[in-house]
Amino acid sequence: SDIQVILTIDFAEAVFGAEKEISLKKLVRCGKCQGNGMEPGTQVETCKICRGSGRITTVQRTIFGNMQVQMPCTACAGEGKIVTHKCSACHGNGTVQEITNLKIKIPAGIDNNETIRLTGQGEAGQKGGQAGDLYLKVRVNSDRRFERDGFNIKSKAEINFSQAALGDRIDVETVDGLVSLRIPDGTQSGKVFILRGKGVPHLSGRGYFGNAQGKRGDHLVEVIVKTPTNLSRKQKELLKELGR
Ligand SMILES: [Zn+2]
Ligand SMILES: [Zn+2]
Repeated sequence: SDIQVILTIDFAEAVFGAEKEISLKKLVRCGKCQGNGMEPGTQVETCKICRGSGRITTVQRTIFGNMQVQMPCTACAGEGKIVTHKCSACHGNGTVQEITNLKIKIPAGIDNNETIRLTGQGEAGQKGGQAGDLYLKVRVNSDRRFERDGFNIKSKAEINFSQAALGDRIDVETVDGLVSLRIPDGTQSGKVFILRGKGVPHLSGRGYFGNAQGKRGDHLVEVIVKTPTNLSRKQKELLKELGR
C-alpha cells in the first residue's frame, strides 16, 4: 500500500535541490519466505474440500428443479491450497516490518507542500503482492532573510537617509551570496529593485516550465529608508536646512 511521509528541508535546499537520506519503518517482503508466507522447506497441501479447484459445487432445490451452484471454497479461501506451516518470521503474511534507509534526490525549485512520488517504495503487498508508492510531502523551513513567491525570492534591505537622498552601493544578501546593488539618488522607501536570475530555478519537466530548464526567477529587494534617530545638534541643523 501507499505511504506518505513528511520531509522537512531548508530554504536553500528547496531552491537548489539536495540529497537527503531518510529512515522509515515500513512493511517489506519477508526475506525468509520470499513473501509467499510458507515456512521454507515445507509443502503446500492441496485442499481436501475442493480438491484444489478453489470452488465447491452445491445443489440447490428450486421450483425449477435442482440447480447446481458454484461457490468459492471456504476451507482454502478459494486458493485450492492450504499452507500447513506458516512462515515463522512473518506468521504467513509474507511481509515484515523493517527500518529502511532511502537516499532521496530533491529537485531544485521545489516549493512548500509539493509532493515527491517514489514508485514502488511504499509498503510491500501481502503474500508477495505488488508494493505501493512512497509519497514525500515537502515542508520548507522558513528563512528570516528571504521570502519565497513562486520562482521569485523577496527580501528587504535597510538604507539610511543620506544613502536614499544621495545614492550609494549596498550589498544585498541573496541565495547566491552577497550581490552589489546600486541605489540611485532620490530613492523612496518601499522602492523594489530587481536582481535578475537570482531567484528559484524552474523545476524541469513540468508543464509550462518544461522547456525552461536552467531558467531562474528573480530576487526582489524592497528598500526601506530608516528615519534617523538620536541626531546630534549639528545633524538636526542640517536637516532643518533641508526642510526649508
Ligand atoms: Zn515469511
Ligand atoms: Zn478448498
